[in-house]
Amino acid sequence: MNTCQDLLSAITDPSGREILDPATGEVVGRAHESTTAELDAAVAAARAAQPDWAGLGHARRSECLHKAADAVEAHAEALAELLSREQGKPIKNGPNAAFEVGGCVAWLRASADFPLEPEVLVDDEFGHAEMHYVPLGVVGAIGPWNWPMMITVWQVASSLRMGNTVVVKPSEYTPLSVLGLVHVLNQALPADVLHVVPGGGEVGKALSSHEGVDKIMFTGSTRTGQAIMRSAADGLARLTLELGGNDAGVVLPDVDPRAIAGDLFWGAFINTGQTCAALKRLYVHEDVYDAVCEALVDVARQMPMGNGREEQNVLGPLQNRQQYDIVAGLVEDARNGGGRVLIGGDPQEDQPGYFYPTTLVADLPNDNPLVTQEQFGPALPIVKYSDVEDAIAMANGLDVGLGASVWSSDTENAMAVAQRLEAGTVWINKHGGVDPRIPFGGIKKSGFGLEFGVEGLKSVAASKVISR
Ligand code: NAD
Repeated sequence: MNTCQDLLSAITDPSGREILDPATGEVVGRAHESTTAELDAAVAAARAAQPDWAGLGHARRSECLHKAADAVEAHAEALAELLSREQGKPIKNGPNAAFEVGGCVAWLRASADFPLEPEVLVDDEFGHAEMHYVPLGVVGAIGPWNWPMMITVWQVASSLRMGNTVVVKPSEYTPLSVLGLVHVLNQALPADVLHVVPGGGEVGKALSSHEGVDKIMFTGSTRTGQAIMRSAADGLARLTLELGGNDAGVVLPDVDPRAIAGDLFWGAFINTGQTCAALKRLYVHEDVYDAVCEALVDVARQMPMGNGREEQNVLGPLQNRQQYDIVAGLVEDARNGGGRVLIGGDPQEDQPGYFYPTTLVADLPNDNPLVTQEQFGPALPIVKYSDVEDAIAMANGLDVGLGASVWSSDTENAMAVAQRLEAGTVWINKHGGVDPRIPFGGIKKSGFGLEFGVEGLKSVAASKVISR
């Protein structure tokens, strides 16, 4: 199998739901909707396969994950095209579909290679105690539509590496990407260790309340995370919740605006702003405010948006109508609230596809909805401050805390501010970017539990003390 069309033929259900290309409105394929009986069967098969999978041991499971990474590499072009056609992101330019597929390979390999030895807790005249990490059993992985392949791999790779088996429930907006990915992964994995149950929120609810599931890895909105906590309560399934954010960036007065503008731009507009840990609110000191605004507008002008299969485009459409309407409504609120639109803000409704132009809005008060709500799209509010204490207070003033960033030419100043920002990750002179070796997770209502690194492996393990 080599082409996207081959992949689609393998995963499409002729009587399934039509999935449309967000750039053109054309049908990409048809996705199956799982029934309760199919979900039960997937969980039962995953449970039956788990002891043998765990029994293979770390080294053999690690080999399987490297083979799975090889399979993704061998199908990289087909997967990237499928992802671009369903999710909308450009295939090759910018942080794009090929980048996302490459991320899948990197995470599979990194997860395969993490060491996970027992930890000696006590070793003295009073005794010897060790912490061992053992699999939990069956993991249910529920994901969103913005980075559907990469986020699935984040959830799946660590879970499998630890010796769990997995049932994946993809977003109803991007089921084909995940069906295609799982189809490829399963060419390298033993039977039944990885299942996929496409469908809507009701399938996610059934998975998170299923008595055969020991752990839910969820990435999505805060509202759904709260619903999942309720569903998982009876079975006491463990939870990792990677939820919504509204990341702040604080630009200190000592920056060179032209030097940081490119990184600021991509920090905010990666994946057309549809990224949980993208820059969503920018606080800029009054001394450099106008210069930062101008530099950002200049960068934005050079970033073509359009169909992701056309070579020149670096930004794609919003993935769905609902998201488009949210962004358009919030920019309207910003205009009505006194915001000065520097670029964008005027969608061309007569074109096919959910294209909302790259939009920068200056001079907004901090309580405008474009600032306080997670717009999850290509619209960045830029708020002016004169005292860094106010900037820190505004940045910390919301009930979410996924990422944040500080921008300064002085590392010590930046560190001092970084330590006071309330977020799971604070970046300095960049925003976003994850690394399989560095744990990632939110605080406040952005969720709890960590992914990646050895900490990520521990989050899909039960800890067991052996003491003598
Ligand atoms: P969403 O919460 O609407 O949906 C996510 C998934 O949950 C989908 O698969 C959906 O079918 C399922 N679901 C819906 N109702 C459910 C229920 N009652 N029980 C179980 N599952 C249910 O989120 P979305 O719109 O797909 O994604 C966007 C959101 O995800 C944004 O808020 C974004 O910030 C967040 N996100 C967070 C991270 C992170 O790492 N923190 C990463 C990506 C996206």
